[in-house]
Amino acid sequence: MRVLVFAPHPDDAAIGCGGTLAKLSKNNSITVVYMTSGEGGSIKVPEKKLARQREAEAKKAAKVLGVKKTVFLRNPDGFLEFNKRNLLRIISIIRKGKPGLLFVPYKGDLHRDHAVTAELVLDAAWKARGPWFKSAGGKPWATETVLCYETWTPIQQPEHFEDISKTLNKKLKAIRCFKSQVHNIKYDEAVKGLNRYRGVISGLGEYCECFEVKEG
Ligand SMILES: [Zn+2]
Repeated sequence: MRVLVFAPHPDDAAIGCGGTLAKLSKNNSITVVYMTSGEGGSIKVPEKKLARQREAEAKKAAKVLGVKKTVFLRNPDGFLEFNKRNLLRIISIIRKGKPGLLFVPYKGDLHRDHAVTAELVLDAAWKARGPWFKSAGGKPWATETVLCYETWTPIQQPEHFEDISKTLNKKLKAIRCFKSQVHNIKYDEAVKGLNRYRGVISGLGEYCECFEVKEG
């Protein structure tokens, strides 16, 4: 199966679904698409330099998780827009990539870029299904399942839990590739705590990632 992941910023895929991706990468081909390169996140490093640094970190983290391909759409960090250009680009990526499974952020995420990524990808997945929106190119493609992942806004009613106890260390190693981020805030510890919480509450594993389930 082909798996397509949409991440608003370079570290979101590892944080939201890194453990599940490490599990899936054994038998599936995974591509991660980064909507922005996260260049707005520093008061010290100039934006262009930070974008290069964070893209390099994303590639390293992707390798740790067994991700096959990375794509950078380079929208401006913090200013991601729901517009025609982005929709057509995502429809085209979905039609060409023919994923059976799509990962997107949870729509209720309080970070604006995350919510906009969810809106864009969910709408594009629907638009990619039919013989319409021809300017996007490619043939119609219907994705079977969409899983919405959580980062810093916990999902209120999770519908699917994935036991990531065996891949937790890989996930944490991937998150620690983001030196520009983990250096300031202990993201790895926060994520470990969230995944442990999901494990205890669901009773499905020591550490779990959880998702909302949508039809593509
Ligand atoms: Zn983010």
